[in-house]
Amino acid sequence: MKLLLVNTRLVVIMLVALLLSSPVTLFAQDLSKANVEKVLSDAYNKFKDVKEGANADYIKELATVDPNIFGIALVTVDGQVYTAGDIQSMVSIQSVSKVFTMAKVIEEQGHQSVQDKIGVDATGEVFNSITAVERMRGKEINPLVNPGAIASTSLISGADSSAKWKNVLQVHSDFAGRQLSLNVPVYISEAGDNLRNQAIAHLLLAYGRMYFDPVEATDIYTKQCAINVSAKDAGIMAATLANGGVNPVTKKKVVSPETVMYTLPVMSTAGLYDDSGIWFYNAGVPAKSGVGGCLIAVVPGKFGIAVVSPPLDKAGNSVKGQYAIKYVIEQLKANPYLIQPKQ
Ligand code: GLU
Repeated sequence: MKLLLVNTRLVVIMLVALLLSSPVTLFAQDLSKANVEKVLSDAYNKFKDVKEGANADYIKELATVDPNIFGIALVTVDGQVYTAGDIQSMVSIQSVSKVFTMAKVIEEQGHQSVQDKIGVDATGEVFNSITAVERMRGKEINPLVNPGAIASTSLISGADSSAKWKNVLQVHSDFAGRQLSLNVPVYISEAGDNLRNQAIAHLLLAYGRMYFDPVEATDIYTKQCAINVSAKDAGIMAATLANGGVNPVTKKKVVSPETVMYTLPVMSTAGLYDDSGIWFYNAGVPAKSGVGGCLIAVVPGKFGIAVVSPPLDKAGNSVKGQYAIKYVIEQLKANPYLIQPKQ
């Protein structure tokens, strides 16, 4: 009897010791259907009435887009699609397209070619800066701001302008998992008013850093920016990056895992214009915004998330997009830099 008592005491002591020494899961991620749906719906309700920001108007057609459009889509690498709000309305993808064109160029030519022919450092200047090109004599421009993006479009394979455009539209469609199309009024509106981008393309040509006719390359770039997407399309595009280049809904291999590996760091350092550092500091995930109000973010190996909401802050990023995505990442404990220490 005494022996039994001693043994029971020993077992209890050992159990307590084991409990104290085992790592406590402080940062458990819960990506269950119920939790993700709750977090998305909370994010939608929390931010739907935010009135900050204003539509971009330097492209006239963008000023006419309904500022109340607000949709969130989170797509997991298993192909689960979760949404909240308006995921039907479409906006022009604008600068978010720069990611997919850059990825296609990396896929076609290899990552070194993008580093050598365009550059991958953040310019530290506004997205359509001419002085950045001049200061660097056409070198070290970045594929996620206009000069590097137009250079990127000029590098896309295709014998002529129409073949290049077809290739650009196709890769965007493959990322989204459906045939995307052009927002013609936005394209016409910007094409009639893009002398600054034409100037950038010509300056790059002068420095030997434009790889196709500058007028035609700018035109394809302008079309690429006018591709229409919904929050759901953009969420699937982001999820394809999160899933190493395979579209998790259609299962099509769009680009290789290595291409994604070189694409995400550029998004991390230059995805949100002049606020890229502030974004990365606060959210910890690669993202890209566009002046049409689309914002995508990628949690590698887990999920892609996108918001469409046209009003932008001073840096040109969707206000509700930033609030909602940051909130969802926090709630789901999905910041990759939130590290569970080994005990
Ligand atoms: N098409 C726009 C431009 O070139 C894209 C700008 C953006 O979304 O950052 O001005």
